[in-house]
Amino acid sequence: CGIVAYVGKQEALPVIIKGLKRLEYRGYDSAGVALLNEAGLNIYKKKGKVAKLEASMAGNPHLHSHIGIGHTRWATHGEPNDVNAHPHYSSSENFAMIHNGIIENYDVLKTDLINKGYTFHSETDSEVFINFIEDIYQNNNCSLEEAVRLALHKIVGAYAIVLMNREEPDTLIAARKGSPLVIGVGEGEFFLASDATPIVEYTNQVVYLDDYEIAVIRDAKLQIKTIENVETHPYINKLDMEL
Ligand code: GLU
Repeated sequence: CGIVAYVGKQEALPVIIKGLKRLEYRGYDSAGVALLNEAGLNIYKKKGKVAKLEASMAGNPHLHSHIGIGHTRWATHGEPNDVNAHPHYSSSENFAMIHNGIIENYDVLKTDLINKGYTFHSETDSEVFINFIEDIYQNNNCSLEEAVRLALHKIVGAYAIVLMNREEPDTLIAARKGSPLVIGVGEGEFFLASDATPIVEYTNQVVYLDDYEIAVIRDAKLQIKTIENVETHPYINKLDMEL
């Protein structure tokens, strides 16, 4: 139901936790984050409030990261529990993804993936989505953003997604159709969120991603293209700061 992601010079976790709290008004049943650092690409998630997630992470020495994704879930497929909470890994555990929305053709995709040998930990449509992307990545010998682009041609439903790649510690990939996604543009840092409320305290420059657009933030630069692979020029809106 809520998305917050960050890449830049700040510590990602406090930005994400604060942002998820700002999105609590949207309602949710569980919360989670993924961070990438010397300890690898790690996911922390819990049924219940963001404060409960925060408490469960307290004292962990591996929470320093300059990139991360966070999610509050409103369950549509699979009961609210720790396993069904987001982020979800792809089967290689090289990619982690958060998803807002509903994938309508997930059962067909899931059957195909199971036939190819994929196994699933959760009951969510979202874990099917990330493994569908992973399968395209494996079979096409392409970049992750290209695998996302190809996957979106086959995905039916609504989504806002953000992905992290273990191999690319400076890269976030995002896309949307039907579910909102806002990109905050700071100085050498980027914020992604379901609405601007988690972003306004850091920057008043935002880009609203359109349906069928893919945003790639890499090396402190933002590139947007459509799922037809046509690059679009990001339009930067100036928000009125209301703090
Ligand atoms: N359909 C996904 C799930 O049930 C995402 C729900 C949401 O938007 O939070 O896990």
